[in-house]
Amino acid sequence: MKAILETRDLVKYYGKGDNLVKAIDHTDLIIEPGEFTAIVGRSGSGKSTLLHMLGGLDRPDSGKVLIEGRKIGFIFQSYNLVPSLNVWENIVLPIGLDGKKVDTEYVMDIICRIGMEDKLKSLPNTLSGGQQQRVAIARALASRPAIILADEPTGNLDSKTELEVISMLKSCVSEYGQTLVMITHDETIAQMADRMIVIEDGKVVRA
Ligand code: ADP
Repeated sequence: MKAILETRDLVKYYGKGDNLVKAIDHTDLIIEPGEFTAIVGRSGSGKSTLLHMLGGLDRPDSGKVLIEGRKIGFIFQSYNLVPSLNVWENIVLPIGLDGKKVDTEYVMDIICRIGMEDKLKSLPNTLSGGQQQRVAIARALASRPAIILADEPTGNLDSKTELEVISMLKSCVSEYGQTLVMITHDETIAQMADRMIVIEDGKVVRA
């Protein structure tokens, strides 16, 4: 199958001389459409640097990131909801910023799937961490991106909530045929993916 996301000989170094850090050191990756890939590795192994370059949030020193289709959705560890907007407004915000019309039926389907249909008018600070992350997931799904990049999405949640949120995310991306790339240092979470890529010192050691 054709790759939806690919890196070719990707390099990102920080610092110089004795302080040189090879955050991403000649990395090649292929992500196929519809795949749920977990990128795992210890803290400092280069996961965030890689994800930021995949999402165009940071530029590599050399090498290429090839993206099929332009739309990317992001899910961050800190939910990044707008505190003054309610659940519904947060979820549809990116669609509005894109100048697009909200497909109410589709967005409501997502909201029911994440179990937040009774909380549409609630403000983020009245929700639990797990609920806030569900809203952030719905927001990422709502604009129908081809690829969703998730940066330790359950890093702030307890382990029970964590499993619930990841299961829900997994069933959503599978239902809507989306491609999910998630970074995590947690092997249990990574086991839930279709595929695991292990990164060490900026290099892919298992793919
Ligand atoms: P991970 O997400 O796996 O914890 P990172 O991608 O954040 O790893 O970091 C990889 C390496 O690059 C680490 O050694 C980190 O200290 C270094 N690094 C990351 N960002 C910067 C930066 N802006 N300046 C200098 N060094 C950085």
